[in-house]
Amino acid sequence: ESQLNPNYSFENFLEGDSNRLARSAGLAVAAKPGGTSFNPLLIFGGVGLGKTHLAHAIGVDIKDKYPEKTVLYISAEKFTQQYIDSVKKNNRNDFIHFYQIIDVLIIDDVQFLSGKSGTQDVFFHIFNHLHQNGKQVILTSDKAPVDMQDIEQRLLSRFKWGLSAELQNPDFETRVSILKNKLYRDGVEMPDEIVDYVAKNIKSNVRELEGAIISLIAQSSFNRKEITIDLAKQIVEKFVKNTKREVSIDYIQKVVSDYFQMDVDTLQSKTRKRHIVQARQLAMFFAKKMTKASLASIGSQIGKRDHATVLHACKTVDNLSSTDKQFRKYVEDIAKKLAV
Ligand code: ADP
Ligand code: MG
Repeated sequence: ESQLNPNYSFENFLEGDSNRLARSAGLAVAAKPGGTSFNPLLIFGGVGLGKTHLAHAIGVDIKDKYPEKTVLYISAEKFTQQYIDSVKKNNRNDFIHFYQIIDVLIIDDVQFLSGKSGTQDVFFHIFNHLHQNGKQVILTSDKAPVDMQDIEQRLLSRFKWGLSAELQNPDFETRVSILKNKLYRDGVEMPDEIVDYVAKNIKSNVRELEGAIISLIAQSSFNRKEITIDLAKQIVEKFVKNTKREVSIDYIQKVVSDYFQMDVDTLQSKTRKRHIVQARQLAMFFAKKMTKASLASIGSQIGKRDHATVLHACKTVDNLSSTDKQFRKYVEDIAKKLAV
């Protein structure tokens, strides 16, 4: 009933530079739930980097050390659904009460609450109650609190009370040790050369790293193929292709210029004509939103501008889309065209 997955333990969560802070903070919280300044502990980072695993590991460890404590893991999505149901069934108070008596509350993927003001409101009250009573709250999110959108300010400020710890892309050594650990646990042997090849080529997502190794094992055992570098290449290619869904800045510029029926050179040109400036600003805005590129790199790719120009463009687009209906339509149309 705690919804914890015992396989997601600290033991199985390999340490590296990319996760050391978050992992250590997790261990500290598990040793003294509610008794550290890491309350809430917010773990953030990209897809497949171990947020859910680490959140479970903390819960599992607490349950181990303090069997009498009630620990609950729930995704923000499920939490939202439960809340909506409770409103429909007229037992919102029971819902609140249920959460207020938990000792350790783990909510996964809180970015899901964005734009859901009713759920944010109820969570705000639950959070305050738990925090005031020295109960531990653990949250995960795909972004840092400063980058979260459509979350109420008062809730964001609570998120920042404790510690926000980032899970970054694991470095090569960590990727190799994650793979070796997985192979060891599954009782499978694989040549180092192959493990290195996979770790070298899949860099930004541990889930895919594991997926590639699982495919390799399956190919070799079901199809009785020998695990060769060639086989590893084929499989890695499939994974890398499937994941290259991040749109490129070139593509964004192309979509935006097509939309305004101009060519990319015009969009990048130095002109101050209003509609061209707006197109350029929109391209910058979407590049910031949809790629991992820095402001400086976006600027240099969109007509050799500096980072301040890109920052200004993002702010302008934000402002205009809330004040100017026509402009908001541009933003929505382009967002649809860019949707992957
Ligand atoms: P997220 O919630 O950030 O999307 P998950 O926690 O679901 O990511 O992790 C994806 C997969 O990668 C899981 O199978 C998890 O066990 C594994 N994983 C992530 N980080 C590590 C790590 N440091 N050591 C071992 N396995 C890891
Ligand atoms: Mg997750």
